[in-house]
Amino acid sequence: MANPTDTAAARSSGTAGPSKPVFKPILDIKKDFPVLNREFGGLPLHYLDSAATTQKPLAVIEAMDTFYRESYGTVRRGVYRLSEKATAGFEGTRKKVAALINAASEKEIIYTSGTTQSINLVAYSYGRKFLKAGDEIILSQIEHHANIVPWQIVAEMTGAVIRTIPVDDTGTLILEEYKKLLGEKTRIVAVNHISNALGTINPVKEIIRLAHLAGPGGKGAVVLVDGAQSISHMTVDVRDLDADFYAFSGHKMFGPTGIGILYGKFAILDSMPPYQGGGDMIMKVTFAKTTYQAPPHRFEAGTPAIVEVLGLGAAIDYLKQVGLDKIAAHEAGLLEYGTAVLRDVPGLRLIGTAAEKGSILSFTLEGVHPHDIGTLLDEDGIAIRAGHHCAQPTMDRFGVPATARASMGPYNDASDLDALAKGLKRIGEMFR
Ligand SMILES: *Cc1c(COP(=O)(O)O)cnc(C)c1O
Repeated sequence: MANPTDTAAARSSGTAGPSKPVFKPILDIKKDFPVLNREFGGLPLHYLDSAATTQKPLAVIEAMDTFYRESYGTVRRGVYRLSEKATAGFEGTRKKVAALINAASEKEIIYTSGTTQSINLVAYSYGRKFLKAGDEIILSQIEHHANIVPWQIVAEMTGAVIRTIPVDDTGTLILEEYKKLLGEKTRIVAVNHISNALGTINPVKEIIRLAHLAGPGGKGAVVLVDGAQSISHMTVDVRDLDADFYAFSGHKMFGPTGIGILYGKFAILDSMPPYQGGGDMIMKVTFAKTTYQAPPHRFEAGTPAIVEVLGLGAAIDYLKQVGLDKIAAHEAGLLEYGTAVLRDVPGLRLIGTAAEKGSILSFTLEGVHPHDIGTLLDEDGIAIRAGHHCAQPTMDRFGVPATARASMGPYNDASDLDALAKGLKRIGEMFR
């Protein structure tokens, strides 16, 4: 996933710009995604917003549709066959998720509504139980708001303090600074695996190793990894990483909205109090005392997102069928190609030029507000994101209020990036 640095030399190689690398497609899966095959105002759709949400393959849409039509029923409660079948599919997906990330057991897989809820669960349950005044929570400077705000809320409740790992001008975490932050007071470290705003791939395995040597008495701080941007772009192995918690969303991995995952090491989950109370998470309820289920059910109050869980299961089957290694290789090619064609656009500044990057290109265009870039590109059938990407501290670090962001998925090809570069050149000329 090499990405050449944004040097003056690379830019001054003549008006023709640096020569484009040849993009060698490894995948041809656009046909599986109905939305990508329709036209908008007579134009083909160039979907470059997969970091916000991915499109859905027919296999996922049909799995959910078929379930609604043929076998819909509740889970865990009904004694009738419809419910038993739904429960088997519902619990079967838990096994698929565990296998996808190499968890030791499906008991370590909690269904949530998304990455945001997964992180809130840890902050409220683990944080409120184990944090006390003066304890430290370490975040990186380039987190999504979902991995900042829950910690701020729990810090306010407990008196814990938030410290941040700075990044350099390429958007790479400065590990030397991280090492200085770690100490006896460190209780929680929470970092993303891939930054949604910059694309930086963070060295989470090393971050975790170091955190496990810190904490009170050197007994280790726990680490939560926000995997929203990594889960559908690379192979994730929570046991190899030794992550304590790993969070992600179904809708960013070709599955439906409304379903997410929190992975947690069983012993840690078992030490945690419930996050929400209600049906399904209890052993026995009396007005005198209520006892709770073991994980994962302790953390799943109420009727769950049954159909979405089955949709997630179909998305995992699809991911496996396509192959995460192939997806990673295809996207590395897209990143290299896209970086080159964007460098060729006059006045374009790439924000986020780390050596290790996922398939995300964040940029500004001289004299044009990112929102105008987004609106004008839409006229060409190109869908990108413009704004602060729920990462205002990241924008502050780079001295910009917002960026435009093109983010790729396995269904993109060179034509999407050629259209983007062409559109950006047109917009640049309009504003000059
Ligand atoms: C999208 C995203 C989130 C939030 O995910 P939701 O699905 O909105 O809960 C958190 N962190 C990162 C890095 C993201 O990209």
